[in-house]
This record gives sequence, structure tokens and C-alpha cells, in this order.
Amino acid sequence: MKTVLITGGARGIGRAIAEKFADMGINVAINYNRSKDEAELLKKTLLEKGAKVELFCADVADTVAVSKMVEDVNSTFGDIDVLVNNAGIALPQGVFTDVTEAGTKKVFDVDVFGLMNCTKAVIPQMVRKKSGKIINISSIWGVCGGSCEVVYSSAKAAVIGFTKALAKELGPSGINVNCIAPGLIDTDMNGHLSKEDIEDFCQDVPLGRIGKAEDVANAVWFLASGGADYITGQILNVDGGMI
Ligand code: NAP
Repeated sequence: MKTVLITGGARGIGRAIAEKFADMGINVAINYNRSKDEAELLKKTLLEKGAKVELFCADVADTVAVSKMVEDVNSTFGDIDVLVNNAGIALPQGVFTDVTEAGTKKVFDVDVFGLMNCTKAVIPQMVRKKSGKIINISSIWGVCGGSCEVVYSSAKAAVIGFTKALAKELGPSGINVNCIAPGLIDTDMNGHLSKEDIEDFCQDVPLGRIGKAEDVANAVWFLASGGADYITGQILNVDGGMI
């Protein structure tokens, strides 16, 4: 494995994944959309540690921008060996009947179509080499459904279906497609939760704590590694045993 492309890599879980791969000596292509300052700061930090890293700005929901991003990554680092589809958004919690069509579209544009755009753009080079690893970030809500998170749960369930089907389609080409379903992870996405909300949630987590972005990054690293060469089409819950 020489090069990884991580979508939404400037913040949160994506940032921890970028740090993990950089620490392991992999060329790290970090996609960001809005978080230019965070991306530049992360690049500076990783370069100071001797990592090979470059930033690529693109909205994953924009097919043209995604094609250009993949071309630019190829020009910078060569073929992409690992794609981590991490970029994602959620709506504020609320009952399904209050969710607007625009809100639903926004979530699906990023969490489903964005992930498909990036995957489609990277597949040809993986097929040509008959190797590659695609790792999609879903959510436990995509596995078991979350009340007041119906649209997000639906989008993340689509990611799971996509993973299972694409793994079958790309297996003969030597490409592994897997998925991680994180539980509650300590990032900006959960910045609205109070200390009490998190303590309540953790009552249902056998390991008794909220997850760290690094917990997810370690699982991504495993699925990208040679240790996972015979694993494909799987959904790995990183949720402290919650479901
Ligand atoms: P976060 O801190 O809110 O970060 C979201 C990331 O997605 C940012 O890097 C953001 O990039 C990127 N992103 C959003 N829209 C994008 C777009 N249109 N194009 C490119 N990048 C875009 O959230 P997080 O917790 O790290 O979440 C990362 C992934 O894990 C998401 O798929 C999320 O659904 C999933 N997840 C999170 C949790 C959790 O509890 N935190 C649990 C289960 C699953 P910019 O800031 O540059 O726009």
C-alpha cells in the first residue's frame, strides 16, 4: 500500500485516519471541502513529522470536482491503493415528518452519492491493477436504525447495501470493499450533545465510554492492511459493543 485518499480528512474521524496512515509512512491524500484552515494546519503538522501528505479540495457531491480530485491525486502520488469514504453530514435530530425534502437531499447527496462519486472515480485504476481497498464509513444507525435520525439512518443503511453489493462485483478484480459502522464518536458531529446526554448514551455501551476518532482510525487501518486481504463485504461495528 503506497497511497490513501481520505474524504473529509481535515477534521474528526477523517483527521484521525489521516494521522494514522501518515504515521505508518503511507502517502496521504486529504480531501476537504469547507475546512481549509484545519486542512492546512493538519498538513503542516504531518509534514513536520516527516509524512508525505497533500490536500485536495472538493465537494464529494460534485462529480466533476471529484474526477478532478482523483486526477490530481494520481498526478501527485500515482495510483490510489486505498479509498476511505469518510465524508458525511447529519441533520439535527428530529422526527421524520419535520424533515424537509431539501434536508433529505442534502444528506443523500453527501453521504450516499458523494461516496458513490468517489468510488466510481477510483475503481478503474484499482481494476487495472487488480488490487485495492475501499473502506466506507457508515454508522450503527445504518445497521439498527435511530429514532429521530431516520434520514441519516437511511443514508447510512444505503452505504451498507452499497458495500455488500460492490464487494461482490469487485471481488473478482482483487478489490476489497468493507464498511465500518461507528457508534457515538467524540467529534464535532456530536458537539450539540451535553455531558449528561453522553453519559446517558454510554449506559447502553458495554465498554462504558464514547468512542475516540482513533478507535475508528485503527479499524480502518486494519481493513486497509494485508491482514484483511481475505475480508470483503463486511460491516465492522466500532461501537464499544453497543449493538
Ligand atoms: P465531522 O467532525 O462533522 O466531520 C465531517 C467531515 O465530513 C468533515 O471533514 C467534512 O469536511 C466532511 N464533509 C462533509 N461534507 C462534505 C462534502 N460535501 N465534501 C467533502 N467533505 C465533506 O464528523 P465525523 O464525526 O468526523 O464524521 C465522519 C464520518 O463518520 C461521517 O461519515 C459520519 O457520518 C460518520 N459517523 C460519525 C459518528 C460520530 O458519532 N461522530 C458515528 C457514526 C458515523 P469539511 O469540514 O472540509 O467540509
